[in-house]
Amino acid sequence: MKRILVTGGAGFIGSHFVRGLRDAHVTVLDKLTYAGNLANLDGVPHTFARGDICDAALLDEVVPGHDLVVNFAAESHVDRSIEGAAEFVRTNVLGTQTLLEACLRARVPKVVHVSTDEVYGSIDTGSWDEDAPLRPRSPYAASKAGGDLIARAYAVTHGLDVSITRCGNNYGPRQYPEKVIPLFVTNLLSGRKVPLYGDGGNVRDWIHVEDHCAGIRLVAERGEPGEVYHIAGTAELTNKELTARLLEACGRGWDMVEHVEDRKGHDRRYSLDDRKLRALGYRPRVPFEQGLKETVRWYDENRSWWERR
Ligand code: NAD
Repeated sequence: MKRILVTGGAGFIGSHFVRGLRDAHVTVLDKLTYAGNLANLDGVPHTFARGDICDAALLDEVVPGHDLVVNFAAESHVDRSIEGAAEFVRTNVLGTQTLLEACLRARVPKVVHVSTDEVYGSIDTGSWDEDAPLRPRSPYAASKAGGDLIARAYAVTHGLDVSITRCGNNYGPRQYPEKVIPLFVTNLLSGRKVPLYGDGGNVRDWIHVEDHCAGIRLVAERGEPGEVYHIAGTAELTNKELTARLLEACGRGWDMVEHVEDRKGHDRRYSLDDRKLRALGYRPRVPFEQGLKETVRWYDENRSWWERR
């Protein structure tokens, strides 16, 4: 049976990834920051190690013996990176390097490093392919770009078999309610207003978390060392259009929307070209309307998961 180590596996996407693994012995390594929650792994067979991907000694105990390491561990919220970037640089750059070094020492045969479209900056029209220049604009995006470049360097210099995935905005159950969809849904379900940034015209390309995880699994099987693979979204929407759908799904009107000052340096639009991954057989499966409806229902039916936060 394959042995798979998932770092950040108690977070939103990592826990979905663990849930989707079959015929594997899974180890989860997670620091359990505010974003990590062991309840995300309830009922899912795994071995858990609490710890930091910056801790080389711990990694030397945990990493050896795994056939695949998938790195989800990160500080992931742009607004927090604007308030203070140090933890982002520590985990997303130094942590990635420390983990890759441990994988090299342990001769791990395959590593996947999970990243984001935000490393490219902002694009008004068209889509980025995997060779587009990295022009991050937020401290979060810059720290992720740093981790991605370290991963590429470990592939080229040391021959580590590490592939990099870059994905659009994820949605689905168990996302910490600081990100826009769970924030808006949990506010509306509690009768609270939702804060819409600026003119609401910023565009995001939404993907269901299960589709993202399927793309990562494919890259784990077929990705080439040092190569980047895009996992694009299925619904390109302005924040205003997204808000309209969330209001409708929660049975609320525009009186529940509060216009707030725009995020500093707010990227206008992201868009990925995912032909490279589609050539390997990838297809997203969850239609946005259905995925969003099910996601709203999940927050409504699992209030204990978010009400105590
Ligand atoms: P999340 O914030 O929900 O989860 C991050 C997890 O990492 C948490 O469980 C946290 O406890 C853990 N962690 C943080 N620092 C750690 C450290 N130093 N050592 C060990 N564990 C640590 O994030 P997410 O939304 O699940 O994102 C997972 C990955 O996917 C991140 O790398 C993120 O950059 C990337 N990504 C996210 C999105 C998105 O829309 N959420 C889109 C594209 C890429």
